[in-house]
Amino acid sequence: MSVCEICLEKQGTLRCIKCGRLVCKEDFDRKKNLCKICSSTLCSICKTNLAIALCEKCEKQVCEYCCEEVDEHIYICKNCLKSYQIDNYKSANDY
Ligand SMILES: [Zn+2]
Ligand SMILES: [Zn+2]
Ligand SMILES: [Zn+2]
Ligand SMILES: [Zn+2]
Repeated sequence: MSVCEICLEKQGTLRCIKCGRLVCKEDFDRKKNLCKICSSTLCSICKTNLAIALCEKCEKQVCEYCCEEVDEHIYICKNCLKSYQIDNYKSANDY
């Protein structure tokens, strides 16, 4: 019997598709097929790349491809970008 590689206590029954760790079901995110560690570091939009920043609006963690740096160290995710631009350019032309 192998032990979960995260808590090192319970039995490892599930394998993370990203890092290959064998983990117990408490340390596994069934929806994403990822261990707790990977699921907490992945971009919450594409769920493929590692997150590098937090969206200023929704506070989701996003990777460099799913967000835009709108200001120094201020990132806005794809999902919020539209409404962010509307907020900022209310009087702007029809873009
Ligand atoms: Zn565990
Ligand atoms: Zn993992
Ligand atoms: Zn992403
Ligand atoms: Zn956002």
